[in-house]
Amino acid sequence: MGIIVHKYGGTSVGSIERIQCVAQRVAKAVDEGCQCVVVVSAMGKSTDVLVDMAKQIAPYPSEREMDMLLATGEQVSIALLTMAFHQLGYDAVSLTGWQAGILTQPVHGRARITGIDNERIISYLNEGKIVVVAGFQGMTEDGQITTLGRGGSDTTAVALAASLKADLCEIFTDVTGVYSADPRVVSRARKLSSISYDEMLELANLGAGVLHPRAVECAKKYGVRLTVRSSFVEEEGTRVEEVSSMETGLVVRGVAHDEDVARVTVIGMPSRVGSLSNLFMTLAENNINVDIIIQSSYDAEETNISFSVSTADLNKTLRVLAAHQEKLNFQSISHEADLAKVSIVGAGMISNPGIAAQMFKELSDADIPIRMVSTSEIKVSCVIPKEFTLLAVNTLHTAFKLDVEEEAVVHG
Ligand code: ADP
Ligand code: ASP
Ligand code: MG
Repeated sequence: MGIIVHKYGGTSVGSIERIQCVAQRVAKAVDEGCQCVVVVSAMGKSTDVLVDMAKQIAPYPSEREMDMLLATGEQVSIALLTMAFHQLGYDAVSLTGWQAGILTQPVHGRARITGIDNERIISYLNEGKIVVVAGFQGMTEDGQITTLGRGGSDTTAVALAASLKADLCEIFTDVTGVYSADPRVVSRARKLSSISYDEMLELANLGAGVLHPRAVECAKKYGVRLTVRSSFVEEEGTRVEEVSSMETGLVVRGVAHDEDVARVTVIGMPSRVGSLSNLFMTLAENNINVDIIIQSSYDAEETNISFSVSTADLNKTLRVLAAHQEKLNFQSISHEADLAKVSIVGAGMISNPGIAAQMFKELSDADIPIRMVSTSEIKVSCVIPKEFTLLAVNTLHTAFKLDVEEEAVVHG
């Protein structure tokens, strides 16, 4: 057996007992002859606790200092897990992201990994050690500590698996695999035995928090064998791999939702070449990520533009637009918070017309208003008022025949 990478999320290392269970699970793989690299998240909800403490000091804390603070969460877990290995009689060593050679862009809060200098990991593995690496963190070329964005430990694990040419990367979490919808929201969600990289990437991008989107991107790019499974129960998980939709026979494979959506409408922009690019360049220069864009009420003189942003970016967006009103030459702005995006995903949609129409009908039959729509070859998304999220996700899950007969037993 070669190298394998295990990743354990916050709940999986949420207490001393859980850390001891993780050590035993990894020890079994070592006994079977594997060289193991273990990536861990911060314990339980400790990253949220750190974020809260910072916000009590400053509403907009320095991004550099936020990374300095949040990176400490994972350091607690690597040290404790390594001690647990020692206690079981196994040789192990813990490494921070930078000690593990994880290099990132010079961006705080959501840096991308640019390279991994894996020499130190390989030499420890060759000495027979279990290597325990802090997820979610890295370092820029000039030595600044960065983090990869919330949920980013998955990406650390997959990037290490790619760099080490590992046989397998296993993401251990608090559900038994990837489901057709968030099993905490849809009790009849079904576990998928496998899912394609593209479908998983859409689901992750559209709010299925079980995998960090960049982890899926990296797994696809480097052909990493990836599975998602429970750290609580012994049960086969979900394989993320190249599968064709022909094999699954289902047009829609999953429903995702994201309750962090706000809409901004810019009213009365001049209808001339360059207006749109000026607007979105201004937002981009201020690091505001825009998702869905709709141009409406177009006439020869004026146009209205609506777009969605994350709720966290709403106030900043309104501030930036107000500051540039003269330059952008619009009349007024309106906005709506408390929205959600529900999406259906499936590679089979490419060859099945009418899926979007069916989605709109299901939502309107359930009296759910649709504010915005966006489609790609393998997904349709609708923005709706947040209060309807639960109803919308369950309605679509049933309508597209994803329900299991019996209530799924999900948690271990
Ligand atoms: P970890 O701390 O292990 O990284 P996360 O909380 O990030 O765990 O991810 C696991 C959670 O993802 C589950 O508890 C579940 O509520 C949520 N989730 C959302 N969508 C899905 C889905 N389609 N399948 C499985 N879990 C999902
Ligand atoms: N601890 C970080 C978070 O809570 C990273 C992770 O868990 O993947 O977002
Ligand atoms: Mg996670």
